[in-house]
Amino acid sequence: MEELKEECGVCGIYSHREAAHLVYLGLTALQHRGQESAGIVSFNGKMNRHVGMGLVFDVFKPETFSYLKGRSAIGHVRYSTTGSSVIKNAQPLLVRTPYGQLAVGHNGNLTNAESLRQKLESTGAIFQTTTDSEVLLHLIARSKEKNLVDAIISSLEDVEGAYSLLFATDQNRKGNPEGTLIAVRDPLGFRPLILGKLGSSWVVASETSAFDLIGAKFIRELEPGEMIVIEERKKIQSYKISKKPLNKSAFCIFEFVYFARPDSKIFGHSVYEVRRELGRQLAREAPAVGADCVVAIPDSSVVAATGYAQESGLPYEVGFIRSHYVGRTFIEPSGAMRDFRARIKYNPIRESLRGKNIVLVDDSIVRGTTSRKLIQLLRLTNVKEIHMRISSPPITGPCYYGIDTPTKAELIASTHSVEEIRKFLGVESLKYLSLEGMIQAAKGTSSQFCTGCFSGNYPTQIYDKESHSKQ
Ligand code: SF4
Repeated sequence: MEELKEECGVCGIYSHREAAHLVYLGLTALQHRGQESAGIVSFNGKMNRHVGMGLVFDVFKPETFSYLKGRSAIGHVRYSTTGSSVIKNAQPLLVRTPYGQLAVGHNGNLTNAESLRQKLESTGAIFQTTTDSEVLLHLIARSKEKNLVDAIISSLEDVEGAYSLLFATDQNRKGNPEGTLIAVRDPLGFRPLILGKLGSSWVVASETSAFDLIGAKFIRELEPGEMIVIEERKKIQSYKISKKPLNKSAFCIFEFVYFARPDSKIFGHSVYEVRRELGRQLAREAPAVGADCVVAIPDSSVVAATGYAQESGLPYEVGFIRSHYVGRTFIEPSGAMRDFRARIKYNPIRESLRGKNIVLVDDSIVRGTTSRKLIQLLRLTNVKEIHMRISSPPITGPCYYGIDTPTKAELIASTHSVEEIRKFLGVESLKYLSLEGMIQAAKGTSSQFCTGCFSGNYPTQIYDKESHSKQ
């Protein structure tokens, strides 16, 4: 998989004496959703916040937890899809509102944030960050509603796009000293948001991988358009945030293809099973006659490749070793050092590839440049033929809902035919999974999923980034 940056992940726990520690562990299991910054806000009569740039393990030290006291906490890992990668944009954000102190962690992207920001600024609002999430906090702070729950619901009526949100506040309607946690999923349910229990404590997270790590039990996913308020141990309260019932959802199908961890369960299905089925379906649609074995580009394509191997009856071979210790190594982007960018991460295994006709499975092609480099590396092993198979359709448009895809002009499939891409990559054959095949493998229908970046059918109004006008 080429460098396609993920979005964000959230995790929160209510009523546990190790709340911040457990959120910290949960965030490590969501690290794949964002690696630029991490943060936790806890509540022990006052709200305590610690955020930093980098990975979860780097941001939190043992001494941090003597500060993050309390029985409730929310946390966030971030990759900047809106706003630049600087500490001021690290989440959870924490502000003072007429409804008390309020912290928020946001996964997704508000598509009309820029025009809302301009409106708010024209009436005197001063922003501390460049994130879309702060726009929502301003709307809540300016709301005329009587309480926070109604203020959040009415503010969400003004925003469009994708949001799975976790709020924490120092207020509690029942006089409970543990504050309140509020979780909300947008009416189309673009991003996952899951509710669980750890003993008698409530847990909310972006993916079930966070639950597995801390030993929490899966209860259910939040419905699209649902807000839950957790202010006591015994029960939660559920609200509908959207007045008009929508007869469709827009679960991001790319979560199954690439973003979510294969050990998670989201949108009602195991990511592992769907991803393997994407590979199986690919083998049915695009067999490679005469191939000797199936090879994956690690790590994200391994599950799809095993599905392809099972369906085709071909053996699965480990063709690459991926270094997991590369991190943010600085390599000159030009000149003699340029060729080391792919090599530092991947090394092909000559012994498993030499003289063979291979099926090379990848989950997607974005710009095509990284795939091309990897194929050049493969050629050094004296592999005979490379038949590339992609377990999703061509990406022809950007994502507006929280995934950092390049612009349309930079996406190779938006400007090149499959045959042109094949030539550019330098492979004997290239085939993609069909849109219908991808939806079928995800065990759903086209009215359940967002497929915008593949099909061009975006489920909401899209705004031109420069003029903020509708497209
Ligand atoms: S446009 Fe693509 S990446 Fe974005 S939400 Fe839709 S399917 Fe997911």
